[in-house]
Amino acid sequence: KSGFVTLIGRPNVGKSTLMNHLIGQKIAITSDKPQTTRNRIQTVYTDERGQIIFLDTPGIHKAKNKLGEYMVSVAERTLKEVDVVLWLVEPTTYIGAGEQHIAEQLNQVKTPVILAINKIDTVKNQEEILTFISAYKDVCRFAEIVPVSALKDKNTDLLLELIYKYL
Ligand code: GDP
Ligand code: MG
Repeated sequence: KSGFVTLIGRPNVGKSTLMNHLIGQKIAITSDKPQTTRNRIQTVYTDERGQIIFLDTPGIHKAKNKLGEYMVSVAERTLKEVDVVLWLVEPTTYIGAGEQHIAEQLNQVKTPVILAINKIDTVKNQEEILTFISAYKDVCRFAEIVPVSALKDKNTDLLLELIYKYL
């Protein structure tokens, strides 16, 4: 199996940590250049199941100027063209304006969206995770929802399994 995934999520949710984990685990290449206006390959992950090409999608935000508009249009096109959108979030029920905006865009495409709730190692009461899930379900439709810890390597293989399901 082989396909394209775009990893989205606001700064600090753990996107780089997740990518670094995948690189450490199996054959993968990555680039961490400053944001450009074009789609680019961020990481190529390969294992016995197949290959997942992670595309970086700049500018899933409201456009503030012409360049911003262009980046948003690239982002919207990417959301339609990839096989899976992987949305990484933090374990919280607080859904801010940025998340609302992402959800609106995701609700406009047919591409399956996987919600990964990261940093679950920081959640003391695991039942709380259900409240985070239901908060996100209120704003967006998801193909799959999975709690993970990129740092502690929890459920990351399950996450890959769920991605492969849609490739
Ligand atoms: P990015 O901005 O989305 O790329 O986020 P980073 O990967 O740079 O992570 C931001 C911070 O969150 C770093 O200090 C990470 O060590 C931390 N972090 C990432 N994943 C986890 C996790 O699963 N658990 C915990 N406790 N911290 C995490
Ligand atoms: Mg990063």
